[in-house]
Amino acid sequence: MTARVLVLGGSFAGMTAALSIKSDLGGEVAVTVVSASDRFVFNPSLIWLPFGRRGRTDITFPLEPTFTKRGVTFVHGAATFVDPEHHRVETTEGTLDYDYLVIATGYRNDLDVVPGMRDTPTITTLHDAERTYDAWRRFLDDPGDVVIGATQRASCFGAAYEFLFNTSYQLRRAGLHGKVKLTYVTSEPFAGHFGIDGMPGAKPLMKMFAKKEGITVESNQ
Ligand SMILES: Cc1cc2nc3c(=O)[nH]c(=O)nc-3n(C[C@H](O)[C@H](O)[C@H](O)COP(=O)(O)OP(=O)(O)OC[C@H]3O[C@@H](n4cnc5c(N)ncnc54)[C@H](O)[C@@H]3O)c2cc1C
Repeated sequence: MTARVLVLGGSFAGMTAALSIKSDLGGEVAVTVVSASDRFVFNPSLIWLPFGRRGRTDITFPLEPTFTKRGVTFVHGAATFVDPEHHRVETTEGTLDYDYLVIATGYRNDLDVVPGMRDTPTITTLHDAERTYDAWRRFLDDPGDVVIGATQRASCFGAAYEFLFNTSYQLRRAGLHGKVKLTYVTSEPFAGHFGIDGMPGAKPLMKMFAKKEGITVESNQ
């Protein structure tokens, strides 16, 4: 009997799961992916959008052809209810039954974790990174001090550091380096902690780079 595998989410985790399962088990499985987004977004490149170094089409591609080519059914829709007892998922595109379920729906921003942050530009989704592009343009028209933050429960501090040092570089290009104050506020106990208790040499390196770039660091000591 062909096992029905249902994968929710078509990004790094969902795509890897769906394609690996299909590749390993071939005709033994019927794999379906349901994704709220019809495009793959290469999140690590979101850091380039605010400065116009990359655009939406540079860092995304359509999911459907990738899955279809490999014998995986793609449904563009959102899962709205999981019924594990009856092995069933309700989606915006109808109800789907499964024998095996993979949930790979990723992270969500918690913009209420810091009061007032709702209107703050972020780089954590495609839409937000594009809004941050607009914010950067407005900043160039009317420059002032810059604060870059990594909040409580942030899970990818590397992105925050990439964006921080990118910003420093872009300030230099705009002739603003040293004229506006750049501050990094982080929930980490020290810069270079990365939420994983640091990496070899990261703490002194971050200290050195922050000093070199004139960045003030406010950590959660
Ligand atoms: C700016 C930035 C830079 C990063 N840089 C790196 C890096 O350099 N290296 C690294 O390893 N990691 C990096 N990360 C982290 C990495 O992007 C995430 O760990 C990764 O995206 C998680 O993949 P995922 O498939 O679990 O979830 P996600 O990428 O969040 O994807 C979830 C998918 O599920 C879909 N979905 C959500 N809800 C539903 C629903 N109800 N029904 C159906 N589909 C749904 C979404 O549309 C999305 O397609 C970075 C993250 C950011 C934001």
